[in-house]
Amino acid sequence: MRIPLIDLQVQYLNLRTEIDEAIRRVVQSGQFILGEEVERFEEEFAGYCGVRFGVGTSSGSAALHAGLLALGVGPGDEVITTPMTYFATSAEVSHAGARPVFADVARDTLNLDPGRVEELIESRYSWHESGSYLVNRRTRGRLKALVPVHLFGQVAEMEPLTSIANRYRLALLEDAAQAHGAGYLSGDKEWLRAGQFGQLACFSFYPSKNLGAFGDAGMIVTNDLLLRERLRRWVNQGRRDRYVHEFEGYNYRLDALQAAVLRAKLPHLDEWNEARRRAAAAYEERLKGVGDLRTPGARPDAQHVYHVYAVRTAHRDGLLAALQESGIGAAIHYPMPLHLQPAHSGLGYRGGDFPVAETACREILSLPMFPEITEPQIDHVTEVTRKFFDHLPMHVG
Ligand SMILES: *Cc1c(COP(=O)(O)O)cnc(C)c1O
Repeated sequence: MRIPLIDLQVQYLNLRTEIDEAIRRVVQSGQFILGEEVERFEEEFAGYCGVRFGVGTSSGSAALHAGLLALGVGPGDEVITTPMTYFATSAEVSHAGARPVFADVARDTLNLDPGRVEELIESRYSWHESGSYLVNRRTRGRLKALVPVHLFGQVAEMEPLTSIANRYRLALLEDAAQAHGAGYLSGDKEWLRAGQFGQLACFSFYPSKNLGAFGDAGMIVTNDLLLRERLRRWVNQGRRDRYVHEFEGYNYRLDALQAAVLRAKLPHLDEWNEARRRAAAAYEERLKGVGDLRTPGARPDAQHVYHVYAVRTAHRDGLLAALQESGIGAAIHYPMPLHLQPAHSGLGYRGGDFPVAETACREILSLPMFPEITEPQIDHVTEVTRKFFDHLPMHVG
């Protein structure tokens, strides 16, 4: 039985009529850039997140870049984020002209550890004499923003992270590229959704994300009208009106065809996330007590949407090979933490700087996960996994 890591074909076949109709609508209208479909989708997705405004972008990376620029992040600034994420998170900080500064992640969730962030700020930064911002004592850089990532579909610890952002006067930007619809129980015992915490939140609709387009697409959501206006210009060549460009922005517009496809899919997102949670529960039950395997740590105050179902084991490479040999599409998110990426060698980090993230990158393995995954498929993945551990030579001690 071949089982892919994700199956986009089955989702399309289930929604074929709606999606084909959406595509036809755009092609017949001839409105390919901006216009009705994009505006409707911006409203609908922002509404889904419980946020007032959405600004469509050409990708999640473009959303991060434009978002940082709209928050005023630029040369001479520093931005704290996690080393356990997709490369775009830190690369876009660099593209904005700023310096990514990493803090280690929490062992259970692999999300940014608020305690580590606080420790980093207290040990490396001092208040500028004006008292209005923090300065890195070594680089003289100004600490401008905090960018938590809701890794694998679980909202980061936003309560303590928000209070850190407030206390140290940092802009807060959520990288929600993996967390469409993910929930978090606030201190007031109210369920909030990814996108409702930061000044801005960035989403990706890369095809394999929980809400995926038929190509690249993304969005920034915000409750701030001024930020929305600024973002509109950043993603559309700095354009104020037809012939006036206020500054040198980018062409980061969301494509109307992608917007139409995403509009057809959005009404199904909650049921898909629910199906992912059911699949996760099925894995959890079948993988309990298998070897040294650890299933993902889902927090009770978070509603995980399992963009990735990541287990951990000291025998990761062997298990990956065994799964692949059986035609199972397992993968690694991520084999290398960002502070050790060659592209970031100029930042001066070394192996050992973030031990929790580094260990996780050696142990982590993503099992097949998509809303339409069946019980027999899950049985097969867990059977192959169980057999692998049964045949492992016994360790002494
Ligand atoms: C996918 C992803 C991005 C980038 O999104 P693209 O649409 O591929 O540009 C950024 N951050 C994280 C955490 C992601 O998973």
